Amino acid sequence: MKRLILTVAVFLVVAACKTNPFTGKSTLNFYPNSQIFPMAFAQYDEFLGDNKVVTGTSDAQMITRVGQRIASAAERWLDANGYPGYLKDYKWEYNLVDDETVNAWCMPGGKIVFYTGILPITQNETGIAVVMGHEVAHALADHGAQRMSAGMLQQIGAVAGNVAIQDPEARNTFNTAYGLGSTVGVMLPFSRSHETEADRIGLQIMAIAGYNPDEAARLWQRMKAQSGGEAPPEFMSTHPSNDTRISNLTAWAPAAKQEARKFGVTSFK
Ligand SMILES: [Zn+2]
Repeated sequence: MKRLILTVAVFLVVAACKTNPFTGKSTLNFYPNSQIFPMAFAQYDEFLGDNKVVTGTSDAQMITRVGQRIASAAERWLDANGYPGYLKDYKWEYNLVDDETVNAWCMPGGKIVFYTGILPITQNETGIAVVMGHEVAHALADHGAQRMSAGMLQQIGAVAGNVAIQDPEARNTFNTAYGLGSTVGVMLPFSRSHETEADRIGLQIMAIAGYNPDEAARLWQRMKAQSGGEAPPEFMSTHPSNDTRISNLTAWAPAAKQEARKFGVTSFK
């Protein structure tokens, strides 16, 4: 029986591997966009309905403007690198929610929320672009679906032979991965390697969008300073900050600017 489970698991892993266009790495993903995105869109709308969405202010307009520029930069990068149509199922949306939590997140398919609590740390449009680039990168790289797939593998281990991925099961896994069972919008942390990937991809797309990638290290310094008190910001607890990360971002910024120059971007705001 053990061997059967292993065989099924190996088959699923091979069948479910998909190449990440940004890293060229093969990644584990059982869940097609067609299965995940509708769930994410429904959960996102439910979240917006339950929370206070800020509209019409200059901050709200800034979130939308930065989001559109970052998504458009991602699309240009994908088109130029042989992935036209990669974003066809994405439905980008960028909302500012009145909540003092220091956080921002992105659900699969491009559904993004910034809390007003993170604005004192982002401080300016370029700071928003750092966080936006990072969150959009999680969505582009299918990190959410990979996290669900890892959860699915654990289930295979736990429930012998039960490998059918049916809608209700997928929904449960989705809810677990996103912490939607109890508190909507509170997500499990991504792995360290997903965080590093999102940092590097985010830096490139923010630069292609015309934002200065040097701001990324400065933003994480501010985040770190904020966490000097007793309660670290929520964004830190799901996005661990450390000196390695800050030095990585500093080291990668020139390469991000170089990439942006390929798209005719020569100055950064
Ligand atoms: Zn992250």
